[in-house]
Amino acid sequence: MRPFKYNRAPDARTATKALSANPQAMFIAGGTNIIDLMREGVEHPDELVDVSRLVLTQIKAAGGGVSIGALAKNTDTANHPLIRQGYPLLSQAILAGASPQIRNMATNGGNLLQRTRCSYFYDVSTPCNKREPGSGCGAIGGINRNHAIFGASDKCVAVNPSDMCVALAALNATINVQGADGKTRAIPIADFHRLPGDTPEKDHNLQHGELITSIDLSKSNFAANSYYLKVRDRSSYAFALVSVAAALELSGGTIKNARIALGGVAHKPWRATEAESFLTGKSATEENFRAAAEAAMKNAKPLEHNAFKVELGKRAIVLALKRATNGKAA
Ligand SMILES: Cc1cc2nc3c(=O)[nH]c(=O)nc-3n(C[C@H](O)[C@H](O)[C@H](O)COP(=O)(O)OP(=O)(O)OC[C@H]3O[C@@H](n4cnc5c(N)ncnc54)[C@H](O)[C@@H]3O)c2cc1C
Ligand code: SF4
Repeated sequence: MRPFKYNRAPDARTATKALSANPQAMFIAGGTNIIDLMREGVEHPDELVDVSRLVLTQIKAAGGGVSIGALAKNTDTANHPLIRQGYPLLSQAILAGASPQIRNMATNGGNLLQRTRCSYFYDVSTPCNKREPGSGCGAIGGINRNHAIFGASDKCVAVNPSDMCVALAALNATINVQGADGKTRAIPIADFHRLPGDTPEKDHNLQHGELITSIDLSKSNFAANSYYLKVRDRSSYAFALVSVAAALELSGGTIKNARIALGGVAHKPWRATEAESFLTGKSATEENFRAAAEAAMKNAKPLEHNAFKVELGKRAIVLALKRATNGKAA
């Protein structure tokens, strides 16, 4: 690992100023992703600004919903009564990720910015446009079993690895950030992460030095009928091949509102809007869930090794929706 300066920030303003003064500096929170990336030679900041002690750890009721601190640990977030009772989808998604030890260290802000698990991205002996723009993409002509079936480009076919972010996408979360000038802005989760296009090196729409301060969730009517389903190669300590965050608002047997977000299929959490529109106003039946799953996967564009994700995705959507109805789907 290359030498770097370590700087512990006492407050958010000092942290953002330190980054804006140094284009090569990066934040470190739980360190569960950034340190691995530095060890592998993928990231090489010359300064780490430690934000892990900032008092941004609240999980509290706010504005009818909840405000979740960016520095709250994943474990504390998943286990908090406000989240377990009001947003069980988020709790399930976080607990489906990593391991208890990693979740104890990992923060919500760091989870939002964790980088892809594309093996070529981590292997610095191979070309990768995300790691080294213009060098090519090892995955497009290589092994692309774990890669995208939606929204990819001819520059990058990587997927976002987060489970938490898939639930946040289904719940229409808002991400609050603060810049070096003290100015704040609120970014809808749908606009937070990017598709790769011609600039796959950019995972998200933050400016250098912007600090994630909190995540807002508005009042949810989905708590009674939601489910996070993660399909992976082994049952723990593995990233999603496909995951589904399904949330239904039911009136009797009729779907008033449906939210479906998919993980493991695109460079950002992927909202299955065609499936949501199809389900709205329909009965919560397995037949309708199957038709919604067909609609969700209609525009999938698989690569050489990942066509299985299309059928897997359909089955995962149907199962997640059935489980969201607590077995009451007709
Ligand atoms: C073996 C292993 C298995 C895993 N499995 C899963 C899994 O199955 N599912 C899953 O979702 N995740 C998984 N993870 C990833 C894990 O969830 C992330 O590493 C973790 O959430 C990152 O949080 P952190 O606080 O440690 O971030 P750090 O490593 O500290 O930082 C990550 C990035 O975020 C930036 N950053 C951190 N905080 C802020 C902030 N407040 N504002 C702006 N930028 C910030 C840093 O500069 C860095 O670029 C796994 C990780 C490991 C090591
Ligand atoms: S898919 Fe993206 S991250 Fe993976 S090798 Fe290609 S450019 Fe790099």
